[in-house]
Amino acid sequence: MAEALIDVATARARVLAEARPLAPEPVDLVRALGRVLAEDVASDLDLPPFDASAMDGFATRAGPAEALEIVGESRAGHPAGRELGAGEAIRISTGAVVPAGAQAVVPVERTRVTGPDGDGEAGERVRVPVRAVGEHVRRAGEDVRAGDAVMSAGTRLGPAEVAVLAALGRAEVRCGVRPRVAVLVTGDELVEPSAALGPGQIRDSNVHAMAAQAERAGARVVGRALVRDELEATVSALGEAIELADVVCVSGGVSVGPHDHVKPALARLGVRERFWGVALKPGKPTWFGVHGSTLVFGLPGNPVSAMVTFHLFARIALERLAGVAEAPGVRAVARLDRAVAREPRRDQAVRCRLEARPDGWHAAPTGPQGSHVLTSMLQADALALVPAGQGELAAGEPVELELLR
Ligand code: AMP
Ligand code: MG
Repeated sequence: MAEALIDVATARARVLAEARPLAPEPVDLVRALGRVLAEDVASDLDLPPFDASAMDGFATRAGPAEALEIVGESRAGHPAGRELGAGEAIRISTGAVVPAGAQAVVPVERTRVTGPDGDGEAGERVRVPVRAVGEHVRRAGEDVRAGDAVMSAGTRLGPAEVAVLAALGRAEVRCGVRPRVAVLVTGDELVEPSAALGPGQIRDSNVHAMAAQAERAGARVVGRALVRDELEATVSALGEAIELADVVCVSGGVSVGPHDHVKPALARLGVRERFWGVALKPGKPTWFGVHGSTLVFGLPGNPVSAMVTFHLFARIALERLAGVAEAPGVRAVARLDRAVAREPRRDQAVRCRLEARPDGWHAAPTGPQGSHVLTSMLQADALALVPAGQGELAAGEPVELELLR
């Protein structure tokens, strides 16, 4: 590699400099999970919208223990339709409107209903204990006030966000369009998972890894291709992918061997290089360039390298295209469970399992870390980012983590 390697942070900054959010679209709330909000959401109402009972019981005025006349009922969805006066109680259920004139709710367990003759029939009365103003009443606007800012553009919608939008009456919200991704793999040795292996052949795992990672990042996979190690085939497959997609990821064939055609093909197609070669292990031979508004990632062929570089570089582009506001990068710190030898000139992305212990989170490397050891990705919760340097990062030292989600 003739050019100097750039560090991970610089490489990411170059990716983000090219990744602009796609135009938003209206999305039905029932399909909004996982989408990225493209508008600031404020509430146009109080939540709860009215003073509501927190218990099943009786709405009353505040006061000393006494017997009150039961004069009506307020059920959830069916307000009482009358005010509460002195000496009166209104039956009430959880979530029902606290009638005008009432100041408190007495839970039913703390009351005793009697009829005029003590038989619980018409003309009923209820004995209530002492009540303070506001007891067991959920005030209107206690959760959200009309006019409050509730969520901001750039938020990924999870179950809680979807629920709050529903409560606010937002049956439709503006969300970033899901970016279109094409994933390609190169290599004469590659066959589909369904094929029997011939001499020297292996099954392609990278198409599946990259497609799955793209979908996890909220993108739509609009093309998959397995490309032979020939220049013309590589040019035409990449050309088609660039037409089709907002982001193209191609694995393998990006190095400088006689059968590596990805870079010459991209040059032929007019894709302009933004970086080549990252000071990262695994993941050194990573290429990034742009063609119009399409972003092109040339990822290493080794399966772990492809997944790690997808996660660190392609995923952040997809998130930015979808409108995610959050800056990418380190999300947590844990103690390294065992020593890791540093690389003199490259940061390392060590696949780790996370474990909560009494002294905090620990990151345990998943085993042998070779870039071909695909099973090292199994059960990995995070990439521990071990900075370049001399010697080792000792067990127990804090290490920054990029969570794998
Ligand atoms: P390359 O970058 O093309 O030199 O490939 C580097 C290593 O990754 C070689 O051992 C390839 O066989 C392997 N490799 C490349 N592409 C894939 C793929 N799609 N699935 C699994 N292994 C791959
Ligand atoms: Mg190859």
